[in-house]
Amino acid sequence: MYDENNIFAKILRKEIPCDKVYEDEYSLFFNDINPQAKIHVLGIPKFPCANFSDFLKNADNHHISFFFKNVQLIISMLDLEEKGYRLISNTGEDGGQEVPHFHIHILAGEKIGNLR
Ligand code: 5GP
Repeated sequence: MYDENNIFAKILRKEIPCDKVYEDEYSLFFNDINPQAKIHVLGIPKFPCANFSDFLKNADNHHISFFFKNVQLIISMLDLEEKGYRLISNTGEDGGQEVPHFHIHILAGEKIGNLR
């Protein structure tokens, strides 16, 4: 069940601001409010989906491929390919997800430490 009042839904509706990196008709990329690395961008599809599985199961192939192509577009725009980056999508309670709208974290700009 998708919660229309989650914080990223409010950002998509422009009810609260974000520090935008890129936007098009299918997706929005913005800087994380509490960055865990020098570069910490969040990418969200403009599709009501609670998590990765929800997005992959319920969005059409066009939305899915456009979104992931845009993740690569941001990686290119920020010139991250040579030095590297880490993509994370926390899902559910065990995954440590806080905001119930599917999002990809793009972490880069320094060596990203191990999770444990
Ligand atoms: P999760 O734990 O759900 O994978 O990550 C949620 C992320 O959203 C966290 O890294 C957190 O800092 C970020 N975040 C939470 N609220 C806001 C907000 O209002 N604006 C922005 N830009 N990021 C947020």
